[in-house]
Amino acid sequence: MSTDADRGDRDGRDLAAELASAAAGQVGIPVDAICVGCGRTRVKRARLEEIDQHPQVDPTSLEATDCTSFKHVCYRCGGATWWNPIAVLTGLLERERGE
Ligand SMILES: [Zn+2]
Repeated sequence: MSTDADRGDRDGRDLAAELASAAAGQVGIPVDAICVGCGRTRVKRARLEEIDQHPQVDPTSLEATDCTSFKHVCYRCGGATWWNPIAVLTGLLERERGE
């Protein structure tokens, strides 16, 4: 279950390291997302089509509230679950693009 403590840890997380891990996935833009199954928050990659965005959209202009939930593996839940985007990680996105 989700706890406030889990969310309070957010500032202490290493988002870049989470993004670099295999659990984040291989393709898509970096988003901070919450698993609807267990409430865990993790950095995931989501393809634009998965979050109901046009493939040509500038991802740095996206708001998390514009993005739909997407399916991704949750290791705590032990399979694919739905994740709700809570933030588009534009800082990581720009770093990847070398901006
Ligand atoms: Zn989960």
